[in-house]
Amino acid sequence: MENLNTYLQELIQKHRSNTEGTTANYIPELARVATDKFAMAIVTCDGTIYQAGDVEVPFTLQSTSKPFVYAMALEEHGREFMRSRVGVEPSGEAFNSIVELEKQTHRPYNPMINSGAIAVSSFIKDQKGLSREKRVLDLFGAYTNHQLAIDEKVFQSEKQTAHRNRSIAHLLRHFDVIGDDIDESLDLYFKQCSILVNTIDLALMAGTLANNGVQPQTKKIIVKPDYIADVLSLMLTCGMYDSAGEWAYTVGLPAKSGVSGGLLAVVPGKMGIAAYSPLIDQQGHSIRGVLAIKELVKKYKLSMFRSTHN
Ligand code: GLN
Repeated sequence: MENLNTYLQELIQKHRSNTEGTTANYIPELARVATDKFAMAIVTCDGTIYQAGDVEVPFTLQSTSKPFVYAMALEEHGREFMRSRVGVEPSGEAFNSIVELEKQTHRPYNPMINSGAIAVSSFIKDQKGLSREKRVLDLFGAYTNHQLAIDEKVFQSEKQTAHRNRSIAHLLRHFDVIGDDIDESLDLYFKQCSILVNTIDLALMAGTLANNGVQPQTKKIIVKPDYIADVLSLMLTCGMYDSAGEWAYTVGLPAKSGVSGGLLAVVPGKMGIAAYSPLIDQQGHSIRGVLAIKELVKKYKLSMFRSTHN
């Protein structure tokens, strides 16, 4: 793996000239970011970091926050409660689908789409004198091993334009999936989406999931190992929304994208992979990030479904 830094550099050079896609223009602050930025990072389970490109450039987590807040809610409320409120089936719909709730139960299909993630955020409450916002920030700070902050401008920008997510939240309230604290729950959801990280931070988060919940550098347990399979299986089947099937077929790894251009993939027991580049496709995935991770995974045969023992 000594040549990995060089290989990541090659991937950056190869795909940086690709200018397909747009920034996430439905959130005004995200529409304005520099579109030439491109970074990749890998954190192996022994804590080694490989990196190339604009790894210091900060961006907001957006939907890459969803698996981590789901893990937090699982730890707090247990599997049974969470499954009674949010399903575990791929929806086959876009991340912001408003129509799709399960027919009988009216639960959101899964925690990786907005409806499920808004429900999940509503279950994170103030605790022991700590606000829900602080608790979520502290959690992400434990993954990245340094204190994180919220991008206030992105938060306000999303909050002021989030008519669709607001409608989803009210629908969830109507079906008693969430309680009366609709605005507080949405605020937490927008805030977790607005947490600023860089590509190394994102790779550390992915690396922690790869390392069975143990942060590869601090060796602290951030997620109970018992819940790792819950999170990774949902990332595999639902993390890439309506292209999750294509992703599982071509890449074969649990992953999660965010409309800011962050993308993370997990090779269980081996490494976390992260990419950042803000031009996204129709599904909301970083175009350069998807291309580069696909190539990396193919070269090193990292798919979960590809046996290396032959
Ligand atoms: N905050 C964004 C939203 O709710 C996150 C979406 C995403 O990253 N796919 O629309």
